[in-house]
Amino acid sequence: MINKDYKNKLSEEQYKVLVEKGTEAPFSGKYLDTNDKGMYVCGACGAELFSSDSKYDSKTPGLIGWPSFGEVAKDGAVKFVEDNKLMMKRTEVVCSNCGGHLGHVFDADDSPTGKHYCINSVSLDFKPTQQQPGKGGK
Ligand code: FE
Repeated sequence: MINKDYKNKLSEEQYKVLVEKGTEAPFSGKYLDTNDKGMYVCGACGAELFSSDSKYDSKTPGLIGWPSFGEVAKDGAVKFVEDNKLMMKRTEVVCSNCGGHLGHVFDADDSPTGKHYCINSVSLDFKPTQQQPGKGGK
């Protein structure tokens, strides 16, 4: 489970979000505009969380500025926690494996799935899909 020991493993920014449940500043995250094929994994424990196939550009006011996903890569990869911190009911999304804070999930009309996983870049690491030998070689 994620705990204070992670202070040694994580950067200060990662710790603020993954452990202390902070939010990175909008438009500051490194994966906001990433369109490469691959898998987004937990920045703390490396568990696979979101495929690049479910990443989309949100147009929802107030929710742009962070990477947006329509669905989780595998059922059970994340857990949902009720969050009333901002005087409104939100659903927090945490890594099932380590409990690290990832972001929140909302209902969204402009999402292909109707769900908008609004996830901090700093909570993620990106693992690009390896090119198959002999295909699309550059
Ligand atoms: Fe994790």
